[in-house]
Amino acid sequence: MKRKKYLHILTPDFLQQKYWRESMSTYQISQLIKCDPQNVRNYMKFFNIPFRQNKKSHINRKGKKAPNFKTGKLFSEGYIRVYKPTHLYCNKKGYVLEHRLVMEKYLGRYLKPEEIVHHRNEIREDNRLKNLKLFKNTGQHTSFHNKIKPKKQKR
Ligand SMILES: [Zn+2]
Repeated sequence: MKRKKYLHILTPDFLQQKYWRESMSTYQISQLIKCDPQNVRNYMKFFNIPFRQNKKSHINRKGKKAPNFKTGKLFSEGYIRVYKPTHLYCNKKGYVLEHRLVMEKYLGRYLKPEEIVHHRNEIREDNRLKNLKLFKNTGQHTSFHNKIKPKKQKR
């Protein structure tokens, strides 16, 4: 298989770092390690790393702050907000954080304002239910983070 050739470089950590934290495109990553862009995409799929929904979002980071009127989604501070002016807890502009909406849909109720939805892989735009974890309040969320910081091996 072709993809084995880059297995030592295109690790899940490397891809998440470049693609999500540094907002590079798959093309830019491929230039970095001098391979075909399709290889990068294959590895992303192989490791189940989500792709950005809006292909243009990585080109212009400023564009992320402008609402996307097609989808009604707003990208700000790394989070995705959805325009829902009828929501009980929308902000003044009528937006609700998408990851909270996903959790609410799953629970079948509104989240209390003190409840916190955490992103398991730390990618704030990755709002798949399986990437989300609910905490009762900031305190529980913070202590969770303090626990996972020194990565102790559990057996
Ligand atoms: Zn968190």
